[in-house]
Amino acid sequence: MMFKSQEILLANAAETRQLGIKLGRNLTAGVVILLSGDLGAGKTTLVQGIGAGLGISDPIVSPTFTLINEYPEGRLPLYHFDLYRLSPPEVEALNLESYWEGGEFSLGIVAIEWAEKLTYMPNNYLQIQLIYTPDDRRIAKLITLGDFTLNLS
Ligand code: ADP
Ligand code: MG
Repeated sequence: MMFKSQEILLANAAETRQLGIKLGRNLTAGVVILLSGDLGAGKTTLVQGIGAGLGISDPIVSPTFTLINEYPEGRLPLYHFDLYRLSPPEVEALNLESYWEGGEFSLGIVAIEWAEKLTYMPNNYLQIQLIYTPDDRRIAKLITLGDFTLNLS
């Protein structure tokens, strides 16, 4: 088990999106991205970049009310969740493991907003915390757990 962490300053929304694009271009099937940060911190903006990096042309919209949005058309399928409104039993009922274990769904990228509400964790993940700076920029704190290396080129 190996943690690696790095921090990246994101000066504006375009830079948040650009970080997502790099991730979307480089991540391999089965990666789970755990997103946390206050409302408006940029979680959905980052996932929009991931979608662009995967080659998805459908607009990526916040799944706050739909709970999950699936985008099958890119290099890998993207499964986008938002746990904001859910109680712990509702989070369990979503059975999110089935999206990263393979079998039921073809392996892709799983992006989960408000991941701090997860009641169970994947074995390998990329956690991204988006933190407001006092001057309304953002710091992305990236933490990986597991054996994959993060390529941000
Ligand atoms: P969340 O999903 O975390 O609630 P959204 O992505 O929906 O957040 O909204 C983020 C807001 O902050 C958007 O208005 C976006 O333009 C802006 N934003 C995103 N990244 C940055 C950044 N690095 N610096 C300043 N503003 C940003
Ligand atoms: Mg959001």
